[in-house]
Amino acid sequence: MLRSTKIVATLGPASSDEATLERMLHAGVDVVRLNFSHGTADDHLKRAQLVRSLCQRTGKTVAIMVDLQGPKIRIGKFKDGLITLRAGEAFVLDAECEEGDETRVGIDYKELPHDVHPGDILLLDDGKVRLRTESVTGQEVHCRVEAGGVLSNNKGINRQGGGLTAPALTPKDMDDIRVAAQLRADYLAVSFPKSGRDMYLARVLMQAAGGSALLIAKIERAEAVEPAALDDILAACDGIMVARGDLAVEVGDASVPALQKRMIRVAREQNKLTITATQMMESMIASPVPTRAEVSDVANAVLDGTDAVMLSAESASGMYPVETIESMHRICVEAEKSVSLTLDREFLDRVFTRVDQSIAMATLFTAFHLKVKAIVALTQSGSTALWMSRLNCGVPIYALTTETAARYRMSIYRDVYPLMISYAGHDREALLEEAEQVLLDSSVVNVGDIIVVSFGEPIGKAGGTNTMKIVKVGEHRRP
Ligand code: PGA
Ligand code: MN
Repeated sequence: MLRSTKIVATLGPASSDEATLERMLHAGVDVVRLNFSHGTADDHLKRAQLVRSLCQRTGKTVAIMVDLQGPKIRIGKFKDGLITLRAGEAFVLDAECEEGDETRVGIDYKELPHDVHPGDILLLDDGKVRLRTESVTGQEVHCRVEAGGVLSNNKGINRQGGGLTAPALTPKDMDDIRVAAQLRADYLAVSFPKSGRDMYLARVLMQAAGGSALLIAKIERAEAVEPAALDDILAACDGIMVARGDLAVEVGDASVPALQKRMIRVAREQNKLTITATQMMESMIASPVPTRAEVSDVANAVLDGTDAVMLSAESASGMYPVETIESMHRICVEAEKSVSLTLDREFLDRVFTRVDQSIAMATLFTAFHLKVKAIVALTQSGSTALWMSRLNCGVPIYALTTETAARYRMSIYRDVYPLMISYAGHDREALLEEAEQVLLDSSVVNVGDIIVVSFGEPIGKAGGTNTMKIVKVGEHRRP
């Protein structure tokens, strides 16, 4: 069953052997995520290599996303590995402390005492422990425990409401961007960006390293969801991740569902990609079936219009990586049946001035009203397929490209199915004949089906899409 929404699965110890990866590919993974918060560059290079070779062998199109660690702001280590904090106790975050105990702990992020003020709430370990800042003296942040619990080495710190000034790209991230270029990553996810500038810097470093990955901004800071900041970030990236793990800690968990809807809507309006991430199938880390709430969550992300839903620990270290992907597939396919196809109203508000974009919109409009079997976009860069996929028209978009890089980067676009085409001549009829053959060979159309094709003329010359043709499959085939 064709699925419009794409699945991103994080690789880890539970999903790095060839047999499991192959089963994951067959279960429907579209993108694998290499999480650079864990593992060595060598681990990631090996995994990338394995995915590429499986794609070659199976003919599947599975893209690779490198996810940078970013400035995860953390506490240091404890003498005994962990402590237990109780509500009402005093506790100190001390930039100069080497080894923590029940009264204090060190901080990796040395600027913390400059960034916090009395009254600030600090959330540790994704909010499981809550501290209120009482005073700041020199390198020490004196806190009162509001919600206690076990605290172990190197747990993350967030400030409620945001406002920590650590830059988005650490020296490790800069090295990792070179690794991403080396393994020819299709997407690069940047953690904790606060502005378009952070994304711009990542793009410059990516280009300098010889990479061409699409840039994904992880929206996980309170500052980044402000409408002006989000617009600034969107303008500088190719897509965003609704990174609900850290975001929920900074803005409060109850604010996240509405933010998810707004972010997906705004991103799509600006022709950007979206990934909905974190805890989507959390219980399947240890259970072969999802909870009712998880089924609803995945289905609602589909209805919100996300390009992709993402798995983290479920596929990286859980017991059921393959089953989780199968469940996600099933939920997406079912939810997509009730997606509302409201092209006309939204369509009239679309703003575009470019020739290629005009053809993309004309193709979409035609496909929607004629209820054709398929849209076929002949594309070098993937742009026409991207534009067509920003609105739900209910018609699958087959993106035929001669470029391997474009084939992989399009694998995350909602409703888009990339296919390779090898035609290199200058003749329009011959090109359309080749396109029909690729579609017939892939069993996505039958002779007699009506399809809408977009392409650029003159054929074989560099230049954008400027032509749309309605085709009855078979009419370009030589007798
Ligand atoms: P992470 O990002 O898994 O790298 O922390 C996603 C999130 O915060 O939701
Ligand atoms: Mn995060």
